[in-house]
Amino acid sequence: MVEKISLKSLEEREELLRKAGYNLFLIPAEAVFIDLLTDSGTGAMSDEQWSALMKGDESYANARSWFKFYEAVKEITGMEYVLPTHQGRAAENILFSEISRPGVIIPSNNHFDTTRANIEYFGGEAVDLVIEEGKDPKKIHPFKGNIDLNKLEDLLKKNSPNIPLCMCTITNNTGGGQPVSLENIRSASQLCHKYGVKFFLDACRFAENAYFIKKREKGYEKKEIAEIVKEMFSYADGATMSAKKDGLANIGGFLALRDEKTYQQLGNALILKEGFLTYGGLSGRDLEALAVGFKEVLDENYLETRVGQIEYFGEMLKENGVPILEPTGGHAVYLDALEAFSHIKREEFPAQSLTVALYKEGGIRGVEIGSLMFGKKDPDGNFVPSPMELVRLAVPRRVYTESHLRYVAEVAGSIIKQREKHRGFKIVYEPPFLRHFTVRLMAL
Ligand SMILES: *Cc1c(COP(=O)(O)O)cnc(C)c1O
Repeated sequence: MVEKISLKSLEEREELLRKAGYNLFLIPAEAVFIDLLTDSGTGAMSDEQWSALMKGDESYANARSWFKFYEAVKEITGMEYVLPTHQGRAAENILFSEISRPGVIIPSNNHFDTTRANIEYFGGEAVDLVIEEGKDPKKIHPFKGNIDLNKLEDLLKKNSPNIPLCMCTITNNTGGGQPVSLENIRSASQLCHKYGVKFFLDACRFAENAYFIKKREKGYEKKEIAEIVKEMFSYADGATMSAKKDGLANIGGFLALRDEKTYQQLGNALILKEGFLTYGGLSGRDLEALAVGFKEVLDENYLETRVGQIEYFGEMLKENGVPILEPTGGHAVYLDALEAFSHIKREEFPAQSLTVALYKEGGIRGVEIGSLMFGKKDPDGNFVPSPMELVRLAVPRRVYTESHLRYVAEVAGSIIKQREKHRGFKIVYEPPFLRHFTVRLMAL
């Protein structure tokens, strides 16, 4: 599929920003020239997926399409029990509605924003335990998404009765799309099991993670991606997934489990919130496209192109003098706004200022992953910044070419050269959860 894109004038872009309260989620997609807001559901489907779509069986229960989806998920996860959902956060909501409550702690390397919000909404505490290297944009480490095993063991020793499960996000989206090694997955799982705690994967980008393992972890160079994927999931008791990522489709997700009792319990919540056990929130044609996507994503040529494009994008940004989080991850390049916009105070959201600048100067849409998304107030009302101030430029799968990304790198480079003209922001409206989606700002 090809789509016409057009660049609005500078005046139009400034007016659109004002109207949107400087929140890029509130800008019409048509007014965006290069849309790097997210890689979630924004990819192009293949010929095979489009033709599978035509075979969608829209029966309510036990449709033919459901069995194709189920077999594909079971093949990847090795898990017997699968609850289909309309996207990842629905799987998280169903899981945490049953297990998160006040007093409960859920550790992870880094919780994704929707995962954290679902845990906190039901009263639990979401704890991030990524290794120290994972918090420093300049530290080079092959697996910056790894969980700090010492911190995990400390937490398990003190609190295991209050920890129903530990999550591990692959790749670690919030921490820069960074991979987690198989060694780390295995050890974290063993630690959890030693303390009677379940181990779950947030598996949105399982194939990209497996590709990094193949390229960077000793002993896996010769293994097939599918084999690595199997081993990753073999250590998990369950998994949540947004299939809008490595499902290569526009909508979908699942919750996979090994244990029948949990499946039955959560199945009731699924029927209440999403739909019957064999379609969740999905139509038969979605299930068809996903069943094909789960196979295509294991193709090493695809993964090499995907991860290679991100790496090349990162190189172009660096050549243009833009500071980025290194090494580049699997699905996005993260600009380091703490360095790029060091003239803006953290409580005035430097990463949001850079996000706004990219749209204003070039019609480019990215997303802030910094103190606007994760900043907090302590009990005394003091501002507590997020560990990093990043702007994520996520690349949709199989959509943009090198020249689109070169344009972005050049615009970003010219912004850095004239950084002083960009100012900070103040919040004028915020909701109680996931504020970045609907927050409104005022330019200072
Ligand atoms: C996208 C994402 C989710 C949530 O999935 P949605 O489909 O957007 O609801 C959860 N975790 C990670 C790591 C993600 O990238």
